[in-house]
Amino acid sequence: MTHRVTLVPGDGIGPEVTRAAQLVAEATGVPLEWETVEAGERAIAAKGTPLPPEVLDSIRKNRLALKGPITTPIGGGFRSVNVALRQELDLYASVRPARAIAGEGTRYPETDLVVVREATEGLYSGVEHWVDRDHSAAETVNVVTRKASDRIVRFAFELARREGRRKVTAVHKANIMKTTGGLFQTAFREIAGQYPDIASEERLIDNMCMQLVKKPSEYDVIVTTNLFGDILSDLCAGLAGGLGIAPGGLYGTSTAVFEPVHGSAPKYAGLDKANPVAEILSLELLLRHIGEAEAAERVFRAVWETVAEKKVVTYDLALPGYTDRPVPPSSCSAMAREIARKVPQIDLEKPRPPYAPPTPS
Ligand code: NAD
Repeated sequence: MTHRVTLVPGDGIGPEVTRAAQLVAEATGVPLEWETVEAGERAIAAKGTPLPPEVLDSIRKNRLALKGPITTPIGGGFRSVNVALRQELDLYASVRPARAIAGEGTRYPETDLVVVREATEGLYSGVEHWVDRDHSAAETVNVVTRKASDRIVRFAFELARREGRRKVTAVHKANIMKTTGGLFQTAFREIAGQYPDIASEERLIDNMCMQLVKKPSEYDVIVTTNLFGDILSDLCAGLAGGLGIAPGGLYGTSTAVFEPVHGSAPKYAGLDKANPVAEILSLELLLRHIGEAEAAERVFRAVWETVAEKKVVTYDLALPGYTDRPVPPSSCSAMAREIARKVPQIDLEKPRPPYAPPTPS
């Protein structure tokens, strides 16, 4: 069965990294038919809006999209395309796996966790105002509903079960924010009781940050509200090796959009220099979502082996200052070709090659 996928190349390095992901997709042999639509700066130039209606129409129709990063102009009248997409398509779960790849670029080569973030409400509801006329005080409303809390907690437990993960940790600040935090905590406790096969625990956000940088391997699935999730998912991307390798998925009830955690990195636009791995691993998440588990595993393993081999890797995995094992850097397209070349050759019976620890200098 052919899957139609909306492709949003995006801005900056977006067209380069999405092209890289398309090349790898082709190598899997999974029949994907791309429907390309423009959002962001090119859409502003052509249509006067960063999010023309055909983008939403295409994603609603196909219920599946692969997206590159989009530049959010600072100031000006345009709202963020990314926030608009989440709200318009009710993409309520933002899922960011933080997996160290072949031990590169991280002090924690064993990192393998997933942050599940509620993406529609909380402190990002957009309900804020000045309290007085001379703008000396302001208020942002933190909207937390039982419906959205139940939905995200259930999503996290279902993900844990599907992926064979052992534990879900809820992160909140219910000791101080007794209503909003307390509501989320109650939802978590009730739903956790329905999943006796999966361990559950709670952490306060401040303690969680400290625990994560001390011993990330203690954690597995983390579920939390919007603002805490935004911060924790970047923290975990850093633990796993940085923006170049961090993929993401946004899930609604019937629609899913996959995109890297990183932005459009304008300074590298058009230079064929950016790391394509985050976009390629976003493709891997897309393949898992449509039930192509073997193809997804091949993509992950091809990335892993390319990074472990370290012959054809981009600057952020190659140069001194970014890595303990410097090598000459390759281009974005060369690394994508190398990953695509490996995809059909992966032997899924064999274990992943171990990461190479740095040699002491
Ligand atoms: P950024 O992620 O674009 O860049 C941060 C740093 O990481 C830069 O040094 C950049 O060069 C580097 N980097 C990022 N991706 C890389 C890659 N694949 N390979 C190698 N290096 C990489 O963040 P920023 O500079 O804060 O944002 C730039 C623009 O992107 C802004 O307009 C921002 O609003 C937008 N943005 C979009 C998304 C999205 O579309 N989902 C997410 C984050 C930021």
